[in-house]
Amino acid sequence: MDGRPTNSNRWRRFEEWDRRPLRHDLFAAENPEAGFSVFHSPYDPDPAYSVGAGRITAMDGKLEADFDIIDEFIARHHLDPSVVDEAMALDSGAIARMLVDINVPRHELERLARGMTPAKLADVVGKLTALEISFAYAKMRQRKTPANQAHVTNAKDDPLQLAADSATAVALGFAEIETTMRVASNAWANALACTVGASVGEGGALFQCSIEEAEELQIGLAGLATYAETVSVYGTERAFIDGDDTPWSKAFLTAAYASRGIKARCTSGAASELLMGFHESKSLLYLEARCLCLQRAMGVQGTQNGGIDGAPLTASMAGGLRELMAENLIAVWLGLECASGNDTRVSESEIRVGAKITPYLLAGSDLICSGFGSIKKYDNSFNPSLFNGEEIEDYLVLQRDFEVDGGLTPVDEDHVLSLRMRATEALSAVLDELDLAHVGLERITSVVFASGSQETDSFTPGEVTPISEAIKARGLTALDVVRALAVRGYRAEAENLLFMLKQRISGDYLQTSAMIRDGRVVSAINDPNDYAGPATGYHMDAARWREVQGIRDVLTRDGVLASQDMAARAAPWLLPKGDAVTGSDPHEVVIGLSPAFGERMHRTLAGHRLEDVVSALVAGIEEGGGKARLVRIRHTADTSFLGLSAAGLSGSGFGIGIQAKGTTVLHQAGRMPHMNLELFSNAPLASLDHYRALGRNAARHTWGEAPEPVMVPVQGEALGARFHVRVALLYAIETEMTDPAAAPVELALAPDREKTHA
Ligand code: CA
Repeated sequence: MDGRPTNSNRWRRFEEWDRRPLRHDLFAAENPEAGFSVFHSPYDPDPAYSVGAGRITAMDGKLEADFDIIDEFIARHHLDPSVVDEAMALDSGAIARMLVDINVPRHELERLARGMTPAKLADVVGKLTALEISFAYAKMRQRKTPANQAHVTNAKDDPLQLAADSATAVALGFAEIETTMRVASNAWANALACTVGASVGEGGALFQCSIEEAEELQIGLAGLATYAETVSVYGTERAFIDGDDTPWSKAFLTAAYASRGIKARCTSGAASELLMGFHESKSLLYLEARCLCLQRAMGVQGTQNGGIDGAPLTASMAGGLRELMAENLIAVWLGLECASGNDTRVSESEIRVGAKITPYLLAGSDLICSGFGSIKKYDNSFNPSLFNGEEIEDYLVLQRDFEVDGGLTPVDEDHVLSLRMRATEALSAVLDELDLAHVGLERITSVVFASGSQETDSFTPGEVTPISEAIKARGLTALDVVRALAVRGYRAEAENLLFMLKQRISGDYLQTSAMIRDGRVVSAINDPNDYAGPATGYHMDAARWREVQGIRDVLTRDGVLASQDMAARAAPWLLPKGDAVTGSDPHEVVIGLSPAFGERMHRTLAGHRLEDVVSALVAGIEEGGGKARLVRIRHTADTSFLGLSAAGLSGSGFGIGIQAKGTTVLHQAGRMPHMNLELFSNAPLASLDHYRALGRNAARHTWGEAPEPVMVPVQGEALGARFHVRVALLYAIETEMTDPAAAPVELALAPDREKTHA
């Protein structure tokens, strides 16, 4: 692009917009016949039911005899005949208002939900705006304390990196971590590596290895996984049957997990039926309401819900993000733990990504992301997440901005390196002790410092497979790992892992919304969300708020001052010569320096040494045929008044005022303070050439010319964000040094400096 239009009939802004990341996103038109409807399809049934002899005999437009397997399961196991008359008789708008009414308790709404059909639940949440859904979610979600879930995978299935990244994820505060693999036969090695890594440091994170169900269950039974959320359910019968499943088989599977102490969660989300081609022309929300009623009916404690794999498709439709929030609201309203579906990246636009996460950060969620990519995008074997390793710090700042707990904690660079070293060494020791592999130090080193697998020189997927197959074939379990850790001196890690295995026996973490914090189970039972308006519900305590604030590079006054003082060790270069008087040379230009200029402050915001800036101004004035004189103004630090005061002392009536941070004005005696001739307000962008040109212009004014003002080009930099903290701290130092009664002081350059200004 040379900046000229490629098509003269086109507003060039559209060409610029074409190059924005947003233009990679696809947007779909509403088309109910093709399955593209978000909240309402003309093919959705109206909410309805009938009860005969204590059983549901009709539901949402179908008689009992016409029920498909999903209707049947919901009618028999979700709908409570003792509540249904009361709940279905309520006006949907009235129930919607109850959801946002802080005076209606969560448990009362949960009771009523047990008497509502999928069409009724969808009808109610469909009446809420995005803001109201978010508010209702804050009230209805299950556990009080929010948390988060991480993806830990890499493109090579490298176990050393999995161990390092698991330890890192735990340090970042993730309550759950999950892995999957590029090569299916590497599942056992991935599971073992993450299990070891997650035991380093604090420990306590729940762990999942996502793979085909039978294999996943076996890995869980071996103690190498503590939760499972891969049990998918669908809102149409054909989508279910296509996967060789029924609600009964899925219920059996979740029970199988839970019966062996593995925390179980189903997965569902808008548009999965559409992706599979079995949408029945129903709206996304209605189908999802069916999925969620099914899950409650199955008795599973929780759901990973909110688009998931279908989220990009949902996000392509008008109102799609509102729908994803609405289905999450139905999930928690039904009393389910919700790993809210902020996992799949729904957009290439960082703005849309940030916007999507914000309501969840504000409302909180059991697991705010059902898969935050703690690793880099290209290492995310689930596909890139909404947030990934690249964007962790952005997320940490959002927590701090809104004073909300998104479940993550800033990590110290040295600490995280030591954890990564410990995790890779521990895994190497375990692999060695169990005679699975013998790892050299160079592999460990390449992983510890690597941001992602493209930088490592470690295991390849093919090298991992024999390890994985040996773990499975030899029937190794988490107890073998505990023993290996203990034998090799990794006592703390062995105890962390053993603690997680003990949890499977007590089973407390099978409760709704359970996670482990500081060695104890925190769930909807002992930490119930009790939000009932201001000053209720979850608030960070002082210690947690301090943690959240602990992001990198927070400026303090002392820090900024110290960085200035480092430069101050040079010998003084501005020598006072008594009170300044008004000059008489008609081509004189007085440069009025601010109180801290060269005293306590030594560099402009652009990083120029103040000596160099003065040299440039003086050189410019001389070039323009003027005569420069330096004066310290002491009664003000304001740019306009520095300039006016300098102009008042100048024989020509023209003067330059400059603050230590580099803001500079060209002024003329007798003008109104803010009616200057030229102003460099964007000091961070001003170059020495700009200062020199300003000096030249000042001199030309003394010759009666009106030179073209110097322009400091701006490219839309967020100068406020980049500089204002430093500006405010530095300017306060300037203003502290002002004395309203102090007269201007004539200055001379120290003799050894003067030469450089000749
Ligand atoms: Ca997940």
